[in-house]
Amino acid sequence: MRYLKADYIFPISQPPIKNGVVAVADDGRIISVNSPRSIVDNVEEFKGILCPGFINTHCHLELSHMNGVIPEKTGLAGFIKIFIAVRKTFSSEQIQRGIEAGENEMLENGIMAVGDICNVSDTFHQKAKRNLKYYNFIEGFDFFPENTEAEIKRVNGVIEELMQIDERANYSLVPHAPYSVSEKYFQTFSKTSPGKILSIHNQESAEENLMFSEKRGKIIEFFSSLGMDFSKWKASGVNSLESYLGFLPKANNLILVHNTFTNSDDINFAEAYSKNIYWVTCPNANLYIENKLPDYNLFIDAGAKMTIGTDSLASNHSLSILDEMKTISSHFPELKLEMLLQWATLNGAKALGFQGELGSFETGKKPGVLLIDNVNLDKVSLSSESKVKRLV
Ligand SMILES: [Zn+2]
Repeated sequence: MRYLKADYIFPISQPPIKNGVVAVADDGRIISVNSPRSIVDNVEEFKGILCPGFINTHCHLELSHMNGVIPEKTGLAGFIKIFIAVRKTFSSEQIQRGIEAGENEMLENGIMAVGDICNVSDTFHQKAKRNLKYYNFIEGFDFFPENTEAEIKRVNGVIEELMQIDERANYSLVPHAPYSVSEKYFQTFSKTSPGKILSIHNQESAEENLMFSEKRGKIIEFFSSLGMDFSKWKASGVNSLESYLGFLPKANNLILVHNTFTNSDDINFAEAYSKNIYWVTCPNANLYIENKLPDYNLFIDAGAKMTIGTDSLASNHSLSILDEMKTISSHFPELKLEMLLQWATLNGAKALGFQGELGSFETGKKPGVLLIDNVNLDKVSLSSESKVKRLV
């Protein structure tokens, strides 16, 4: 048994406790979160704050080898263009080394579980080592209905590979993005089994909304330049989210990723549609690609359930939830650390269905214990120097 004390404990399931103590069993299970007076000896004291391990609700571990390859601030169409050109230029050794290094980076940065997008099977052997907990989103895109059958066959093949490598792995089939999935393919997700979790990249660029509302802009221009024929593709006349959300079942958790160009009408539309929507923000990737952040106040005002993701090292400099929180704090200093930590821990655990074990200091859970030091204790906020270390 260990007794861990710090300037502040953030149990997440209850308000922060000044000079609190968390008691943890040798197997990592939380025994209790106590007020300062109730524990006297064997206390390990730390400067800073203690919180549960982080949950990364959006990553592409299979792209970790692309760290620093694509230039910043190209816009989404520019990013995809370079991505397609360079993705096939790496050896399988380079890819595997990237995956291992990416996972190590997440472990060192206090991440306990990851919602990870998989287009291919490259990460499955590393994940089978169970260093980290994963929910695998096996992602497909067909663009047009003539490709739907072939794409379904392809993604089912990826799932077969996953089951051969690790038959207990968590997974679901998911659509990539509104602009890359046909209505025919979208409709297949209405039959998603109960309990499976869905995820989709949503409104990452203004061009995506322009495509759906007016059938124009850089996304259509770019894919047309690759020879794709959009002549039969119809604009819905509304933003992308409102165009496709009705295809996805209301009963399953749905993780909407990015939401950089989501407005309050879009948020209200989605929240009215389903109570099981979780919004992921990946601020460093948004700055990397589009140089813009979501307006977090819109989501907070609507009572949206926010979570945090790192996206991949193709569009980020680190796989660190703390780095994402620092970016949010520096642009939105009015947002309280208590709320950001809830996004980074319990909300993410709920989104991925891991809340029974992870996300908060509640008796019986094994959420991991992180120390964040170099915090501003007067304001109880992060500083640019804040660092994270996993204690349990
Ligand atoms: Zn992504």
